Amino acid sequence: MSQSEQGPVRFARRGPHGELEFPFPVDPKQLTVDTRRIVCKVVDGVPLRKYTSFYAVGVYGGIATAYSVGCNFRCVFCWVDWSRDWPESHGVFYSPKEVYARLRNVMLNRGFRRARVSGAEPTLCPDHLCAILDLVHQEPSAFDLFVIETNGVVLGMEPDLASRLAEYASRNASDGTVGHVRLSIRGGLPEPFEEKTGCSREFVDLPFIAVQRLWAAGVSFHVAVVVDPRFTSKEEKDTIYRRLGEIDQSIRRNVEEEYLDPYPHALVRLRAVGRTDVTGEKVSERERQASRSRPRE
Ligand code: SF4
Repeated sequence: MSQSEQGPVRFARRGPHGELEFPFPVDPKQLTVDTRRIVCKVVDGVPLRKYTSFYAVGVYGGIATAYSVGCNFRCVFCWVDWSRDWPESHGVFYSPKEVYARLRNVMLNRGFRRARVSGAEPTLCPDHLCAILDLVHQEPSAFDLFVIETNGVVLGMEPDLASRLAEYASRNASDGTVGHVRLSIRGGLPEPFEEKTGCSREFVDLPFIAVQRLWAAGVSFHVAVVVDPRFTSKEEKDTIYRRLGEIDQSIRRNVEEEYLDPYPHALVRLRAVGRTDVTGEKVSERERQASRSRPRE
């Protein structure tokens, strides 16, 4: 049975003997295909994508954020709301022009010169993302940074995406682009990669392939690594750093180290895989609320 025939992929759970419950671990490539069917579509030649909201946040010194729907990983520590697991019942389709207008609105209201697509996995619908980046580069004086966040799966699957992004996020400053990719590496060893992402261990190399492609294509990027010792051992951290250094030492030197905050949806997901060492035994009110807001199967 293929993964798409097994029904929707929600969040990972472990049974009484610690075993991952069906359909986990999943194939992130198949999950990419299945999620695209829900969150990306083309109407009259215009590539649309689902989003839940547009807002301002303080990171990156103040940045307008478009919160996209749908991901091709199922990280157990994921802080994204239930739109990650139930993309069919969350969000509204927006055209690139509508996304751009909403981001500019937030920027103008707050005096920001920075914007990003965040939420779940922003590269799931590449034509839509590149169309937004086209609009950004038609008004370059309004921006000093446009961040593209990614887990690297689509970049690892589709060889041409890195060179497409290089048109908007060039490492060569004289090209005048404002794009910058932030690629998150969740795991570096097969077994913990599977435990953390809910995806089969055989796909552990995909994000590293993505790093290689971004580097080779001349993209402006940096890598964020989950180094939180509750999720990443020293051996795994060393493996990730070694592999990044093998591509180029500057990538290793510029790593952003990530420590994870137990946001409410993350707490529900972590408890579902038995990580009470992180959640604590007692269920807090905010975790209870996140649990109550979960759509029913
Ligand atoms: S943490 Fe990021 S990559 Fe992982 S499931 Fe959540 S949105 Fe996707």
